[in-house]
Amino acid sequence: MSVDGYLMQEPGFATKAIHVGQEPERWSSSNVVTPIVLSTTFKQQSPSQHKGFEYGRSGNPSREVLEQCLSSLDNGKYGLCFSSGLAAATTVISLLSAGDHIVVMDDLYGGTYELLTEVIERRDITFTFVDARYPERVASAIQRNTRMVWIETPTNPLMGIVDIKQVSEIVHAYEEIILVVDNTFLSSYFQRPLMLGADIVFYSLTKYLNGHTDVLMGALVMNSNELHERLKFLQNSLGAVPSPFECFMVNRGLKTLALRMEQHMKNGLAIGRYLEKHPLVDKVLHPGLPSHPQHQLAKSQSYGHSGMLSFYIKGGLEESQKFLSSLKVFTLGASLGGFQSLAMLSSQMSHAPMPIEDRIRLGITDNLIRLSVGLEEAQDLIADLDQAFKATVS
Ligand SMILES: *Cc1c(COP(=O)(O)O)cnc(C)c1O
Repeated sequence: MSVDGYLMQEPGFATKAIHVGQEPERWSSSNVVTPIVLSTTFKQQSPSQHKGFEYGRSGNPSREVLEQCLSSLDNGKYGLCFSSGLAAATTVISLLSAGDHIVVMDDLYGGTYELLTEVIERRDITFTFVDARYPERVASAIQRNTRMVWIETPTNPLMGIVDIKQVSEIVHAYEEIILVVDNTFLSSYFQRPLMLGADIVFYSLTKYLNGHTDVLMGALVMNSNELHERLKFLQNSLGAVPSPFECFMVNRGLKTLALRMEQHMKNGLAIGRYLEKHPLVDKVLHPGLPSHPQHQLAKSQSYGHSGMLSFYIKGGLEESQKFLSSLKVFTLGASLGGFQSLAMLSSQMSHAPMPIEDRIRLGITDNLIRLSVGLEEAQDLIADLDQAFKATVS
C-alpha cells in the first residue's frame, strides 16, 4: 500500500514477519510456535561435533529464530540480538580500536550520546558531531582515522531526516568506513537502510519491534559476511546477549508489527494535524506532514512514518509541566513505540545529560514536547490533549 506519496510498500512484509524462521519442521515436535529454550548447554555427539549450539551465550534456538526473522524484514542476510539497544551499540563500537574516529549525528538518542561522551571517549576513540541533515558536513568531518559514521533518522526528538543514500555514497568512497543507521524510530516496516546503502542497521527492539513495553533488547542487521563474523564473535565475547524468554516475546511482537505500524501512522498523523491547528502550539515536527521541511526527502526513502512527533507548546517550562501533568490517556514517561501513548519533555528527561547550550542550539528547549502516539482511539487521544491544553491556560 502506498500512503500519501511515500515509497510503495514491498509485498510480503507481514508474511515474512509471521513465517521466516518459524518453520515447524525445525523442531522434532513440529510445534508452530517457537519454544523458549532455556538450556544453557547442548549435548555434543563427540567433542565439538554438535547441531549448531554449544553454549547459551554463543547461540540459542529461541534467539536464532528471532535473528533470522528480523534480518528478513530488512532484506538483510544476518541479524544479531543483544540484551538492550545500548548493548548492541557497545558491541558495534567495539569493532573500533584506540586511535579511531567516529562521525556522529548531533541530534542523537540521549543514551547513545552518553555512551559516547562518558564511556567511549575514555577508550581513546574520538568523534565529531555533525548535523547530518547536510550530507556535505559528514563529508568534511571525515578524517584519516575515521572508521565509522553513525546516523539516526528520523532524529530524536527533532524529527530531522538524513538522506541515507547520499550519506552512504559519501561514506563508501572510503573502503574502511562503516555506516551505521539507527532505525529505531521507523522500524523495518517503514524504512530499510541496508537497501539505501547502510552497512549495519541498529535497533532498540525495546521500542516498535517488540511494541509491548515489556522487553529491553537491541539488534544489528547486516549483509556483509565479514562484518557478521566479527560482530558474532563480539556478541559472544562481550556477552551482552538477551534471554530466551525475551527473544520469544519480541518474536511474538513481530507478528503484529505491520498492523501496529499502520495504526501508529494513522493516529500520529491525526494528532499532528490536530496540533497544527491548535492556538497554543507554535510548531509541529512530523515528517509525514507537508509543513516538515524535509517532507519530500522522508517520502522518498521511507514507506511511511511511525507514531513519533514533537511540538513546541507556547510558553516555557511552566506551561510544559502543566500540560504534561494534566494528561490522562497519554502517560508521562520515557521510551516510545509501545501500544500505549506516551509523552515526555526531552530537555528534562532523555536529553538532561546534554550540556544546556548544545540543547538550546539544537532546539531541544523546555517547551518541546515529544509524543509517542500509541494504538488507542485517535479521538480519545485528541480529547485528552484538548483537556490538557485547557488545563494549561486555566
Ligand atoms: C531506546 C533507544 C536506544 C537505546 O536502546 P535501549 O534498548 O534503551 O538500550 C537507542 N536509539 C534510539 C533511537 C532509541 O529510541
